[in-house]
Amino acid sequence: SVRVRFAPSPTGHIHVGNVRTALFNYLFAKHNNGKFILRIEDTDLERSTKESENLIYEDLQWLGLDWDEGPIKGGDYGPYRQTERFDIYKKYVDKLLEEGKAYKCFCSKEELEEKKERALKEGKPPRYNGKCRNLNENQIEELEKKGVKPSIRFKVEDEDVVVNDLIKGEITFNTDAFGDFIIVRPDGTPVYNFVVVIDDALMKITHVIRGDDHLSNTPKQVLIYKALGFDIPYFAHIPMILGPDHSKLSKRHGDTSVNQFREKGYLPEALFNYLALLSWSHPEEKEILSKDELIKSFTLDRVSKSAAVFDFEKLKWINGIYIRNKDIKELTKLCIPFLLKSGLIDEDFINTSFNRLANMVESIRDNLEVLSDVTKYIGVYFKMETDFDDATKEILSYETTKPVLETFKKNIENLEILDVDNYKSIIKAVQKETGAKGKKLFMAIRVGVSGKIKGPELDKLVINLGKNEVINRINKILD
Ligand code: GLU
Repeated sequence: SVRVRFAPSPTGHIHVGNVRTALFNYLFAKHNNGKFILRIEDTDLERSTKESENLIYEDLQWLGLDWDEGPIKGGDYGPYRQTERFDIYKKYVDKLLEEGKAYKCFCSKEELEEKKERALKEGKPPRYNGKCRNLNENQIEELEKKGVKPSIRFKVEDEDVVVNDLIKGEITFNTDAFGDFIIVRPDGTPVYNFVVVIDDALMKITHVIRGDDHLSNTPKQVLIYKALGFDIPYFAHIPMILGPDHSKLSKRHGDTSVNQFREKGYLPEALFNYLALLSWSHPEEKEILSKDELIKSFTLDRVSKSAAVFDFEKLKWINGIYIRNKDIKELTKLCIPFLLKSGLIDEDFINTSFNRLANMVESIRDNLEVLSDVTKYIGVYFKMETDFDDATKEILSYETTKPVLETFKKNIENLEILDVDNYKSIIKAVQKETGAKGKKLFMAIRVGVSGKIKGPELDKLVINLGKNEVINRINKILD
């Protein structure tokens, strides 16, 4: 049965490129009733942190990418953190050494650097010259006695390695390009290209789905699978994501890490939906797809070979659609953190006026592309605009405006409460009494209660403001 994994290195919040990889793995697993495994690749001790690890869990859970096996969850193939697997790796290193498939290399960093530079200058691939390949026992002992710490190199013979990638097709790599490569550093830590194979093999991974920046690592990994007699999994290398200017998507294009999207007020369902469309498409080219629909229709044969361009506008558009389809109470709850942060409301307001708040949100929801927009549009309910623009001043200059507002106010003052039904009859009454209609009627009222000519639909605006606030505001304008 299908087993796939997402194997991030815990060095910060997850980048959207990386999380799209997680998402493809997730969709592929669920589509095939398989397992989605999370493995933390923290062998780079200098850059990996526990905090980053927690950020990864947070980001994945927020997006709805729950893993079946991995840290927190557990599973039969753990531990799922590479730093807890060093004993396992050591066993396989020893095996390769014993079988003569790997050897200790005592060349110094400086020596290797120098050779590398020379090769590059001569236009040759910078590969190791095999100096330590044939050291005998005595020589090795001698060097170790001197305290030289060796790295361990994997022996590579000159051959073609064929990788049959499910997305890229058949690709042939000649080992000439890299030569004997290091699998354990002098400090004893094993390197990515080695441990990834051990882990994928022991965790019974059937499909390695990852970014195509790892394509060039694949022949090295294939050689290790072969040397250890492991079954080689299927590989599927997904194309990278470009920024709008077609260079590799990075920070300078704007928000690119999952938490930034969360903080701006993107809905996880919307981001999930959008990310799925990066280098994958639905058979009928549908674009708004729920998680279930994506699971149902996701296959690797619809992943394209070419890079996807991250389209911030399209993501916003999709987010807007999800915002409009949300249950209004739920949407209001999601808006609350943004409103609290802006200082427009406090906890007390939420406790006493949640339904009113929900009505306010409802009246402006069509304007929202991201949740954080809420503070911009809902402000009209909390503060009257007093710095009038020209269009507003024009409305105020109509001679009908004052009588309209006075009549409107008088009618409202007579009410117990202001609601949808009596709002309509009041408008009719004002029209009748003043003779104003159209712009002269409606714009006058709008400006009278908000100080500007744009905003939520007028009936909603007036009703959500409530009787007292409407009267106060009109009084202020008439002053
Ligand atoms: N830790 C590697 C990365 O984050 C994983 C690569 C792989 O999936 O093999 O790029």
